[in-house]
Amino acid sequence: MMIRHWLKHAVVALCGGDSPKRDAEILLGFVTGKSRSWLVAFDDHELDATQLAELDALLARRLKGEPIAHLVGEREFWSLPLRVNDATLIPRPDTEVLVEQALLRIPATPSSLLDLGTGTGAIALALASERPDCQVLGCDRIPAAVALAEENAQRLHISNARFQLSHWFNDIPAQRFDVIVSNPPYIDAADEHLQQGDVRFEPLSALVADEAGLADLRLIIHRAPQWLQPGGWLLLEHGWQQDEAVRAIMTQHGYQHVSSINDYGGNPRVTLGQFF
Ligand code: GLN
Repeated sequence: MMIRHWLKHAVVALCGGDSPKRDAEILLGFVTGKSRSWLVAFDDHELDATQLAELDALLARRLKGEPIAHLVGEREFWSLPLRVNDATLIPRPDTEVLVEQALLRIPATPSSLLDLGTGTGAIALALASERPDCQVLGCDRIPAAVALAEENAQRLHISNARFQLSHWFNDIPAQRFDVIVSNPPYIDAADEHLQQGDVRFEPLSALVADEAGLADLRLIIHRAPQWLQPGGWLLLEHGWQQDEAVRAIMTQHGYQHVSSINDYGGNPRVTLGQFF
């Protein structure tokens, strides 16, 4: 079968999903090892029997809802190709807003940065790649996540990011950071969004928090001042209806210059504040 015929067949099969063409192209790229532009230029190339069998098996798994990132073991974040697996959250484009906002607030001089609940290491590695003069520490309470983040750092040759096991601040050595970032779990356990799409295949440990999703956000806001340099920034990702609550908690805890920033869909997604 020619590439273009398999593509057409897969797009029809995937038409109930969010991104049929993109999904089909990612699977084709994964199985053939070719770039998207090669696949477009040579779409009359014949797929061999092994490739076809592999593609059909992946398509069947995708049709059962498995995230495309799990099928190919990779997701790009901040232009970094990251290994992903079912131990952690699949990095989301909206989280790049958190990276952008953190980069605006990291002092111009070599600084120390902390990423709590690092998962794949996405945020920590994005910051480390942009600021090679800074030292970035990423922590996670799941050993498989720490191993994955370390693997990503090695594969991407990012040497200024380190990773360790820690449930939030519990095992972080006493030190002061210039900027602390986190994309913690923030979804309410009863949220119907958890029954839809990719999140069904992601660990609840990365998604769900008590107190209508606010428990971990509150804990981080409460404890961060002990680990922040005077004037250091805390930046948190949260749900699109949690901005008011998160600003209120930060203000109650004495943070200054508290504000929220919208994601690419126009919803408040990141709240930040400075502690003196
Ligand atoms: N933004 C993700 C979602 O809505 C959740 C990420 C998180 O809980 N930190 O699927």
